[in-house]
Amino acid sequence: MSRVHIIGTGGTIASRTGAPGTAETPGNTEDSRRPGTSGSVASDSVGDLIGALPAAAGVESPEVTTEDVMTLGSYRLGLPEILEIAAAALTRAAEAAVDGVVVTHGTDTLEETAFLVDLVNGTDTTVVFTGAQLAADQPDSDGPRNLRQAAAVALDPRFRGMGALIAFDGRVQTARGARKAHTTASQPFHGGTTVGLFRGEELDLVAQPVRPRALPLPGKTFGSTRVEVITAYPGSDPGLLQHAAQAGAAAVVLAGTGVGNAGEGYAEAAADLVSAGVPVVLSTRVPSGPMVPLYGNGGGVDLIAAGAVSAGHLNPFQARILAAALLAAPSGTPTLTEFTTLFSDQR
Ligand code: ASP
Repeated sequence: MSRVHIIGTGGTIASRTGAPGTAETPGNTEDSRRPGTSGSVASDSVGDLIGALPAAAGVESPEVTTEDVMTLGSYRLGLPEILEIAAAALTRAAEAAVDGVVVTHGTDTLEETAFLVDLVNGTDTTVVFTGAQLAADQPDSDGPRNLRQAAAVALDPRFRGMGALIAFDGRVQTARGARKAHTTASQPFHGGTTVGLFRGEELDLVAQPVRPRALPLPGKTFGSTRVEVITAYPGSDPGLLQHAAQAGAAAVVLAGTGVGNAGEGYAEAAADLVSAGVPVVLSTRVPSGPMVPLYGNGGGVDLIAAGAVSAGHLNPFQARILAAALLAAPSGTPTLTEFTTLFSDQR
């Protein structure tokens, strides 16, 4: 019998609606990570969500085991929590008795946690992330279907060795490159590579991703590694780069305009940070497409010449996760040159 292990972390999939427009506060409000509030709050254990699983898992009655790592809206997560979830997922993925791992997660920052898992998952067991746009007790809640589909992907041998995937609303896409792109639509994620599509209960494999070699799981310092994201816009202040470094940022991701440009003063500010040993990663504020050094006069060509490293196809938030993972490597903090090489290998 195959076994799927489901890790619960919270999010809408684990939320219940109370009064219209709100959801019940969690049972355990003493947990400082789940403060009392009148807004929507994740409250369910993942064990409460698995009732519908065997119906469509695509396998005869899989054995289902569950674990709650936390019960939080994903907008409450910090890097320590993201590391905790990734470590739990990796531990289970490495267990010989586990055939598939699913993580239920809030959609707001799912792309960050799933990407960290993708970076560090060197096992053959793919970790499949899912969530919901509608709370568990809403009549049309998408949570049960998404969870069934995630379990089906996790147990399907064709999807092994894919690092971390997102199964949501009938689509299966790589965590790498995925981004929450709609606040309320049943399919909130864009980007990544579509590797699978559901037709009813049938699952088609449509692509096989190519992945860089897995990084080691970052050390505990990942949780306190400060990597700031600064966005360029007309009239924005390049001094924010220096402020970030003075405030303790170990690296800065610059979300440039267009293919990765910024206005007056940014190239000089980037050069200042780099010469002080603070890596600057150049990404784009545009929702899709890579950073490409095309423009001078402060554009991407000058920023790269100033020492910034291109984020390539990574969006600013996934670039931030990669930067923090490299800076918190268990073998110690890389030099600026090592950081640039390691970053370029993974982007
Ligand atoms: N709207 C979010 C969700 O889908 C809230 C969160 O990220 O926890 O779960």
